[in-house]
Amino acid sequence: MKDNDGVQMIDCKEAERRLHRYVDRELSDHEVVEVQRHLEVCENCRMRFRFEAGLRRLVKNAAQNESAPQSLRERIRRLGRR
Ligand SMILES: [Zn+2]
Repeated sequence: MKDNDGVQMIDCKEAERRLHRYVDRELSDHEVVEVQRHLEVCENCRMRFRFEAGLRRLVKNAAQNESAPQSLRERIRRLGRR
């Protein structure tokens, strides 16, 4: 499957490989488009990416929230590092 704009279809393995860099916004525009193209057709990866992005947001919020207990922040941070 190939679109006329030259965007390649990547498989789940490739999408997973890019997951963390995608969440960290370290992918090139082209790579992001390819990932997004895959997420449109693959519900599994869509769920994973959504979960990971949500987790990353949680980590960020928790890290900035001084009132969060230290132990909780540590736990969330460890989760995000996985
Ligand atoms: Zn997939």
